[in-house]
Amino acid sequence: MYKLFALLLVFICSQSSTFAQQNDIYIKAGLLYDSEQNVLIKNRVIHVKGNTIQSVGAFNSIPENADIIDLTEYTVLPGLIDAHTHVLFSQDATEDFSEHSIHSLTMESDALRTLRGAKRAKSYLDVGITSVKDLGNSGLFLDVALRDAINEGTIEGPRIFASGPILAATGGQIYGVSPKHQDLIDLEYRIINGVEDAKLAVREHKNQNVDLIKICADNIPNNTHLSIAEMKAIVETANSYDLSVVAHSITNQSAWNAVQAGVNGIEHGFRLADSTLTLMAEKKVFLVPTENSRTYMNIYGKLAGYEEEDLDWVDNYMQMMKSRLTRAIQKGVTIVAGSDNYTAIGGTRGESSRDMFRAYFEAGMSPLDILQSATYISALNLNMANDIGVIKSNAKADIIAVKGSIETDFINTVEHVEFVMKDGQVYTD
Ligand SMILES: [Zn+2]
Repeated sequence: MYKLFALLLVFICSQSSTFAQQNDIYIKAGLLYDSEQNVLIKNRVIHVKGNTIQSVGAFNSIPENADIIDLTEYTVLPGLIDAHTHVLFSQDATEDFSEHSIHSLTMESDALRTLRGAKRAKSYLDVGITSVKDLGNSGLFLDVALRDAINEGTIEGPRIFASGPILAATGGQIYGVSPKHQDLIDLEYRIINGVEDAKLAVREHKNQNVDLIKICADNIPNNTHLSIAEMKAIVETANSYDLSVVAHSITNQSAWNAVQAGVNGIEHGFRLADSTLTLMAEKKVFLVPTENSRTYMNIYGKLAGYEEEDLDWVDNYMQMMKSRLTRAIQKGVTIVAGSDNYTAIGGTRGESSRDMFRAYFEAGMSPLDILQSATYISALNLNMANDIGVIKSNAKADIIAVKGSIETDFINTVEHVEFVMKDGQVYTD
């Protein structure tokens, strides 16, 4: 039985490779962003065959009569990566997160939720984001289903690295739910009850083919949190399956606990103290800062119904974010770009997500450092740096082009993506 199955697999694999598109395409880049070296290089040509980059060389390496895509007037970059998304979740600015979650879990079918997610997913490609790390709030593995539908070509969208339901302590992040309705939480979170259950939860997730594990180190404003022992059990079991673990953390204490437990990354980390940042740098734990730009906050404030004078807190918020990001960089913490934008503020989800570039820029990061954190560094922390986030031999052909000057007009330029290729296929030309 097993032998026959193995033979069948070999047959299927050899079949599909013969159907793959194998045209040679040469992309001429006026400027090429080398994400590993974090520099812009003039006049390079990228040779793409099928879905793979064959080589990067000089213009004179193009053979005669070759198929050429001329991007000499553009800057060419690897497809961008958003390392913190919730493709299957959307709320209005006026809605309460918890009430909206319960509404969605009880009145939005999985089918409807997934179809809506599919539309959001596609919008990432339009803005040059060709990969996303999708971190829960996606029902029972609807993120995995969406990923598979994209990978098999049923729908168009970015590469999705899916976590499945978030592992969290009692109540998850859905606050205010009465005892008799706590079972609703199990439709959105995997509630952990002790060390053995923590191990079981990771196995369940592995069995559903997730790409990584997301935990809530704290559940603020729900006052429960995972213990260090539970988080350690999660990390050890996940690592035994080659899965990395990222931790949502608001309080400094929960981040400290998660880092002690051995997680690979901290998401948000709004209240990180210097001592925790130092520990993160030592243990090579990355940070995904998920704040928003001033522009975004102004739009959000209006939609949420705040009066102008009620928005003083935004200044404090911006200041806090800038200080934390600056301290993290000074301490040597690796920054990975992620948006966490799931509120409908007008425009598509992809457009909303690229606000992270503006936020980091306003907080003082240099354009090239921002791009590196959204390409090579992000890929490195997904263990995918040979495949995505880079333009080099044998990488997947995820390639975009922008018009303008990255170094002198960053925001305008990064918002003018005029060419998008994912997996060797041109989406926007
Ligand atoms: Zn999030």
